Amino acid sequence: MTIQEKLSRLPQVNECLMSPHGQKWLESGYRRIVVRSIREVIESKRKEILSGLSPDVSIDSISGDIEHAIRKHSAYKLRPVINATGVVIHTNLGRAILSDKAIANVAATAGGYSNLEYEISRGKRGKRYSHIKDVIKELTGAEDAIVVNNNAAAVLICLDTFAKGKEVIVSRGELVEIGGSFRIPAVMQASGAILREVGTTNKTHVADYENAVCGNTGLLMKVHQSNYKVIGFTEEVPVERLVAIGRDFNIPVVDDLGSGCLISLEKFGIYGEPTVQEVIRQGADLVTFSGDKLLGGPQAGIIVGREKLIKKIQNNPMLRALRIDKMTFAALEATFMQYLDEEKTLQDIPTVRMLTQPLELIRKRAGKIMASLKKVISARADLKIVPDQSRAGGGSLPETDFPTYAVSVKPSGMSINALEERLRLGAPPVIARIQGDALLIDARTIQDREIHLLVHCVTAALKNNI
Ligand SMILES: *Cc1c(COP(=O)(O)O)cnc(C)c1O
Repeated sequence: MTIQEKLSRLPQVNECLMSPHGQKWLESGYRRIVVRSIREVIESKRKEILSGLSPDVSIDSISGDIEHAIRKHSAYKLRPVINATGVVIHTNLGRAILSDKAIANVAATAGGYSNLEYEISRGKRGKRYSHIKDVIKELTGAEDAIVVNNNAAAVLICLDTFAKGKEVIVSRGELVEIGGSFRIPAVMQASGAILREVGTTNKTHVADYENAVCGNTGLLMKVHQSNYKVIGFTEEVPVERLVAIGRDFNIPVVDDLGSGCLISLEKFGIYGEPTVQEVIRQGADLVTFSGDKLLGGPQAGIIVGREKLIKKIQNNPMLRALRIDKMTFAALEATFMQYLDEEKTLQDIPTVRMLTQPLELIRKRAGKIMASLKKVISARADLKIVPDQSRAGGGSLPETDFPTYAVSVKPSGMSINALEERLRLGAPPVIARIQGDALLIDARTIQDREIHLLVHCVTAALKNNI
């Protein structure tokens, strides 16, 4: 058969669509994706023919390839992955994972209408921020609260409201960069506030602040060193002292806490993370923190503090550009409610649970993963449980070690890099860490309900072309 004859046997797109296969694809998939997939497969067969091959090009025989292409193009680009890295607040993997209650509340309120800006008792228009205020006030002891898109937005609107064209005094030891574009000096500039740096990288004294205050000072700002530590010959001015200076000169003090922890983690051996309520008790006028770091909720920025100041923020027209949506509200309200019972918080909010769970529990989970793996792949890999360290991640608790247990997988007949890649490209992707000549599956960040799927993924990855 000549190449021309072979090419003439290629089916037309329309023929494929009209075939029984095509009708089935159109019923269950999106038309554009079906058409694109058919075109792609026909095109690849055309190339095979042009390169001298003689593929079978009947619709029946190419239907498998077309279905594969349809599946590939129909999959969402944003999809779940299994986090086997042990990094709990993994920014690249979506930061905090939501609690069941938060998820349920999103599902319950997002699919229908809600009283987002409606006061049911009075039958009148209401404020979207009012729903969540009371629980945040109760938990933090603050006079008032408001929420925006993320903590970067919270800092931005505080600066815009109180320090546009004015100076904001910040210690040189606190001019942080929180990954990528969030750097205190840059945010300052974007908001139109003027950064007034005081002190040095390692030491800043009360007098440094006092000497910098002038008629044009808008705010005294403290930024929590969330993702780094200055150690050695150091001194920083505690919030109480900053508050005293603020009182003397009648200037508000804002503390950007970053993580925003609501329960003291010290009993779990985790130090250096002040709680929001502590900082409020110490007198900070405004405190900003993230919804999806240690709090374990959705992406959001929470601002708590003096009623008078929160009112001003509420009246800032910029708030509209930073306002959070109803799904976030639903998740955030449910998350905050869970903090009303600390015991339940530790169990039910995944981020908090993963950070505070007893080591013994992690070891047991690692054991369970290994036992399930052993049943199916013992000949294909050397498996053992190894002690390791996990991290909090998300720019939180940088110097805190979290002892953990991981399942170490040393594949036979395949390189460790190949296994890592296969797991990453699997469905769902499993993101794991290579250490030396083994792949480590950190049991801390594996959810109990994921174990079955994880075992399936590792098995599939190890079985591939052996
Ligand atoms: C993380 C962090 C931010 C930014 O918070 P997002 O919620 O990520 O916008 C700001 N300040 C500090 C100190 C942080 O740690």
